[in-house]
Amino acid sequence: MSSLTKTATVTFDAESIRKDFPVLSQSVYGKPLVYLDNAATSQKPQPVIDALVKYYSQYNANIHRGVHYLSQAASQAYDNVRIKVKDFINAASEEEVVFTSGTTDAINLVAATWGRQQISEGDEIIISAMEHHSNIVPWQMLCLDKKAVLKVIPMNDDGELVMPEFEKLLSGKTKIVAVVHTSNSLGTVNPVAAIVHAVRQHEKKTGKTVPVLIDAAQAVVHEPVDVQKLDCDFLCFSAHKMLGPTGVGVLYGKTNLLNSMPPYRGGGDMIKSVSFEKTTYNDIPFRFEAGTPNIADVIAFGAAIDYLNNLDRIGAVNHEIMLAEKAANALSEMDGVQLIGTAHQKTSVVSFIIEGVNAMDAGMYLDTLGIAVRTGHHCTEPVMQRFHIPGTIRASFLFYNTLAETETLVQGVKKAVDKLRR
Ligand code: PMP
Repeated sequence: MSSLTKTATVTFDAESIRKDFPVLSQSVYGKPLVYLDNAATSQKPQPVIDALVKYYSQYNANIHRGVHYLSQAASQAYDNVRIKVKDFINAASEEEVVFTSGTTDAINLVAATWGRQQISEGDEIIISAMEHHSNIVPWQMLCLDKKAVLKVIPMNDDGELVMPEFEKLLSGKTKIVAVVHTSNSLGTVNPVAAIVHAVRQHEKKTGKTVPVLIDAAQAVVHEPVDVQKLDCDFLCFSAHKMLGPTGVGVLYGKTNLLNSMPPYRGGGDMIKSVSFEKTTYNDIPFRFEAGTPNIADVIAFGAAIDYLNNLDRIGAVNHEIMLAEKAANALSEMDGVQLIGTAHQKTSVVSFIIEGVNAMDAGMYLDTLGIAVRTGHHCTEPVMQRFHIPGTIRASFLFYNTLAETETLVQGVKKAVDKLRR
């Protein structure tokens, strides 16, 4: 399914790993929970939960402003996480790491600051046909505001971007390219390196700079993303999809770009000095972090990064891809079941429809069996429009899922087909 898998044999011990995730050991409706909604949010390992409890029970304080012991401890813990994120994505410096409330917030930040400054009437913004709404709507809002034009890279019936069409879209009017690394509804892993490369070639030809923003919300938990190697200009992701808490995310931006951007929100911490006559803004990244940040969750995000760093990540990705492949193969053999998203490069997302069965009904039925899947358009309505369907049933696997759970899903879908199919 994916070239991300590095070895043929899988020795990953998901059974012992899942003991680190307290949520997973429970029963729902008297059935063992089978959590297959990882693309919506991942579960949290005990060290992440412990980090939250420790912060609130031992050193809760506001950061960067206090001289007292607790404030210094909290500031240090918070600032350390910026270094961890920098290392995690191999940014050139920690000033390139802006904490946001999530991927959505990070993309909105770029659209509202860089976008408002750089986009004018007639300019073109390129996104793709498989974007999450959070990488569509901020650009649409900007286009409306500035009379700019949104251009969309099309995809084929397997859910893969049509690269020659992308290259045709690049023009002297292109101002930014913003694409998803890994699709949440189809599982497609896009050729982001090739996209960046094509933009760099285009820049050479035209002499114009075109930043590339990558929505890596679904990518970073599955595979290492190295921003220097990739040479992207912006990278956005959310902590909650990578074992961390909700309400925290990252905007990575190259230093020169962040330095050139006006502030996002005004308030405390983002200023150097304020008078009624004039305010001078703080340096990056603080210029973009107005007000008291999400201290506790950033600190716990650091624990999530530690956890991932200590994991056998190649074993993990092999394992989750193996599970997704088994599920996809079994489901595709069932009468009336059709997979949506059959790209060659895929992550561990299996989206499907059942002929004659409403996706939500199937999801609700699977829920009665203890199986948590997601149904609907997954915040990618244009993807559903492309496939002429209202929505899919999506099972998304993470390394702590097991073969037994995969079998439970397959048997559950079989029952759903028998019971619900008209
Ligand atoms: N992009 C993709 C590909 C996603 O899957 C998601 C979350 N489903 C987002 C963006 C938005 O992330 P968040 O809701 O954490 O801001």
